[in-house]
Amino acid sequence: MTEHDIFVTRPHLPSFEEYTAQIRPLWESQWITNLGALHQQLESALAQRLKVEGLSLFTNGHLALEGALQALDLSGEVITTPFTFASTTHAIVRQGLTPVFCDIKETDGTIDETKIEALITEKTSAILPVHVYGNCCNVKKIEQIAKKYDLKVIYDAAHAFGVELNGRGIGSYGDLSMFSFHATKVFHTIEGGAVCYKDPAFGRVFHHIRDFGIEGEELIAAVGGNAKMNEFQAAMGLCNLRHFEEEVAQRKVLTEEYRRQLKGISGLRMLRQREGTTHNYAYMPVLIEPGRFGMDRDALCAALREHRIFTRKYFYPLVTDFACYREQYAGVQLPVAKRMAERMLALPLYSELRVAEVEGICAVIRECAGQ
Ligand SMILES: *Cc1c(COP(=O)(O)O)cnc(C)c1O
Repeated sequence: MTEHDIFVTRPHLPSFEEYTAQIRPLWESQWITNLGALHQQLESALAQRLKVEGLSLFTNGHLALEGALQALDLSGEVITTPFTFASTTHAIVRQGLTPVFCDIKETDGTIDETKIEALITEKTSAILPVHVYGNCCNVKKIEQIAKKYDLKVIYDAAHAFGVELNGRGIGSYGDLSMFSFHATKVFHTIEGGAVCYKDPAFGRVFHHIRDFGIEGEELIAAVGGNAKMNEFQAAMGLCNLRHFEEEVAQRKVLTEEYRRQLKGISGLRMLRQREGTTHNYAYMPVLIEPGRFGMDRDALCAALREHRIFTRKYFYPLVTDFACYREQYAGVQLPVAKRMAERMLALPLYSELRVAEVEGICAVIRECAGQ
């Protein structure tokens, strides 16, 4: 169908000229990491853009998430979703905590808030939900549960850059929220991430965590690690932030085209967004119901690959089926998550994808649907 391969995503890159102009001053200052001028500039620009009070940059989202868990000084069990990227669960385990998996909702893939309370024990110290595909969790209900049982709430907002709920930045909900700025995310700094918070005291805590606990040349105040964002990453972020609205607008056009073209195909379903949310069009996930669609998800994925269209089974396998976890979680019942993991397929979506390419992808899907 196409002359070239279509991948599931492509990183947004500013023009070469824009990026080199952004990094040119570094050859003067020779300050290329350790919280330089660009780092400071990006930190405040992002706090403003994400409508959050406090924000600390990290070298990647995963270390930001581990830092968030560490900062809250948690112990015991953390209730979380199995329908996510490896990072969410690994962060819990690597911080010496035990993940307790809660099933998700069929409608939008986020944690099923009605099933959280039954999982709370004396050992529970926090809830770690994911705004999966940029779909907002039921933050109100989760906050009520957290209050009632005195639990902390950390959101994995890796997919939710720029998303707002009822006029508030999604990162302003919960005790802490983590964003990822990895190259595959809708906004990126090559590798990068951040933690957002309301309580300004966290600024110092995260500074310790990401920079060896160094407060001054002769004052090492805490046992911190190294998770600093460098100036070349920050420069990429400053460039990409200038083009973020454009990026979202183009993705919106493509998403609407997908929705138009895929409408009415029996056995193909799209997820719903919570009311009152603005979307970032980070992903184009579709659910394939075997039996009603002409083939199952894996066969559709393979058929698209024959046409050099590369989709992604996002998320498959389910975290609880990972080789490193499956023994421990063999008995856990997560029927909705399991079903979703077997049916979800993320279609190609990036700003440079052409409308004609979306049409071509949808034509193959319709053919596979056999309707
Ligand atoms: C990308 C991602 C992360 C990790 O972010 P990195 O910046 O790649 O370390 C965590 N959780 C989810 C859901 C993600 O998609």
